[in-house]
Amino acid sequence: MIRPILIHPDPRLKKICDAVDDLSDERRALADDMLQSMYDAPGIGLAAPQVGVLERLIVLDCVKDVDPEPLVMFNPELLHSSDDLNTYEEGCLSIPEQFAEVTRPADVRVAWIDLNGNPQERDFGGLWATCVQHEIDHLNGKLFIDYLGPMKRQMMTRKSQKMKRERARG
Ligand code: ZN
Repeated sequence: MIRPILIHPDPRLKKICDAVDDLSDERRALADDMLQSMYDAPGIGLAAPQVGVLERLIVLDCVKDVDPEPLVMFNPELLHSSDDLNTYEEGCLSIPEQFAEVTRPADVRVAWIDLNGNPQERDFGGLWATCVQHEIDHLNGKLFIDYLGPMKRQMMTRKSQKMKRERARG
């Protein structure tokens, strides 16, 4: 099921999300819905708060156009971030059609719980590293525009608000 994606500004996008303590069928279904919604959008990552669920769950796939590799992460945690930095032009399904350069650690190690309840750990670089950091930020109520200066952030927020009103009107 494709779920509607919240558009910034929305108070639910500013909340710290709760850890997931057990993998119910409902949560697995949510993860599946999130993957469908992400591919449909289309996007390369989606966090549960973006569909209004304030739990620590993200999905991502940065190679979907070549050879899809859907990743579902419950309780993702950054174990290590490199001193090397990387700059990518980022966007967000909750801030449609707007992009800005953000600098983040180039390589990260992430631990998470997979769909089967098993702990996983993996190193990410390149676009994957940026994407996973962007999605984990969502679980802490942080958006990529929070890395920008106040003028730019305000401008992008206003545009997003306008788009949200237009979509609500249909
Ligand atoms: Zn985002």
